[in-house]
Amino acid sequence: MGHCPNCGEGRLFRSYLKVEPRCEACGHDLSAYRADDGPAYFTILIVGHLVVAPLLCFSFIWTWPAAAVVAVTFTAISVATLTLLPRVKGAFIGVQWATRATTAQ
Ligand SMILES: [Zn+2]
Repeated sequence: MGHCPNCGEGRLFRSYLKVEPRCEACGHDLSAYRADDGPAYFTILIVGHLVVAPLLCFSFIWTWPAAAVVAVTFTAISVATLTLLPRVKGAFIGVQWATRATTAQ
């Protein structure tokens, strides 16, 4: 939801995907959570199953000109990816918080 997993009040992201180093509400160290490539991997997995695979069921994929198919599918895939990526990253950090899987010693 874009909030600190520890208190649920402070912002999790400074910008689109940049995590705040420390929660402004409770002071929790958010820099200890390393998402790395995990959110991108899971976003690709989700978009692949929700958008790419179902697109193969629509006949326009096979009958429209290639440029039109690329324009439609690229738009759908881009919107789904850019919408899901911060949410998946937030969920990834939330799981790390819940399992205490941090880089902090
Ligand atoms: Zn907090």
